[in-house]
Amino acid sequence: MFWFDKGEFSNLSYPPVDISYLVGSVNPVYNTIMSDFTQRSDHLRKPDRKAVHATGPVLPRIHVVATGGTIAMQLDPEQEGAIPGVRGTDLIRAVPELDQIALVSVEEFSNIPSEHMTPAHWTRLATRLKAIVEAGGIEGIVVTHGTDTMEETAFFLDLTVRGEIPIVLTGAQRPASASDADGPRNLRDAVQLAACPASRGRGVMIVMRGEIHTACEATKTFTEDLDAFESHSGTDLGQVRAGQVRFTRQTLPRRQLPLPEDLPRVDIIPMYAGADDSALRAALARGAAGLVISAVGAGNVNQALFDGIKAALEAGVSVVISTRVPHGLVRPLYAYAGGGMSLRKAGAVMAGDLTPQKARVLLMLALAAGERGETLRERFEEHSVSLRS
Ligand code: ASP
Repeated sequence: MFWFDKGEFSNLSYPPVDISYLVGSVNPVYNTIMSDFTQRSDHLRKPDRKAVHATGPVLPRIHVVATGGTIAMQLDPEQEGAIPGVRGTDLIRAVPELDQIALVSVEEFSNIPSEHMTPAHWTRLATRLKAIVEAGGIEGIVVTHGTDTMEETAFFLDLTVRGEIPIVLTGAQRPASASDADGPRNLRDAVQLAACPASRGRGVMIVMRGEIHTACEATKTFTEDLDAFESHSGTDLGQVRAGQVRFTRQTLPRRQLPLPEDLPRVDIIPMYAGADDSALRAALARGAAGLVISAVGAGNVNQALFDGIKAALEAGVSVVISTRVPHGLVRPLYAYAGGGMSLRKAGAVMAGDLTPQKARVLLMLALAAGERGETLRERFEEHSVSLRS
């Protein structure tokens, strides 16, 4: 058994040797697999299925990638708040019943709050997950992550990591040190979901408190409630209840984009009553290649932002219009200055059903892929059509 605890990426360079840790078990079959597994230098090679069959049932192999978040935090009485302090191995050990569900290996990608996640972390994590998927020999991947920006990481992974293998993100609203911590149940549900054959081909999912959401639709809607996420469309993808996975609807067609080495700067500019264009101008001065407007209503802004958006478009900066309203599509309904139709006619792209933070992720990847103008418009607006059909 070997363990390489990376901690947070300080220089963002991934270690050449990967790490693996298998959950301990009193099950002799499990231990046979475990010792076989841990003697390998590459834990992601396929297990000897025949050997496993000879001695007992085959458990699916699930690889857990720990990135941090409240699920991996403990209350520090001196600092009077929760701080990172729980390793991936400890997360797994806290859920002994995982033994009955899967053969679980775990690696520590980072141990950071999700507010500290950056686009550089996203590309590094996607690169790592691609390598795991391509190595084969596992049935699913679970990523533990802070809930505050989980939806952005999940969507980025959904867009860039190909393959049928389920990738499930989960986290917690209460730290691991809490007597009523929700992390263990969420982790168990995530492993169950990643191990479920019906999860194949559904892309990246989030599970929290038994509710399953697609990465594209998941959005955090409660600051502290355990049921932290909702699906933007209003309908969850399914549930994990008492160890049973149940999908209640189809997954929408998945968008895919190449994984670039670098991502362009894209800023989110909020619209509110009386907003001026100073935030927008500051973003342009910082070299933003794209802007996402968190507009109001179905995608409308005031005169000051309208003028700023037109200046940005004239300067060759791509502008995508999303909304601060939690549900529904952005649509060009109004033709007055700053209304959705006037924005679209000026060259802005409607984000469809994507929240500002999701639209930003897609815009970064689309710009990195060289998409502009009509191609960019199709990239965003095609999805609105698929949502309606
Ligand atoms: N602030 C925490 C984070 O996102 C919240 C959580 O994990 O639930 O890292």
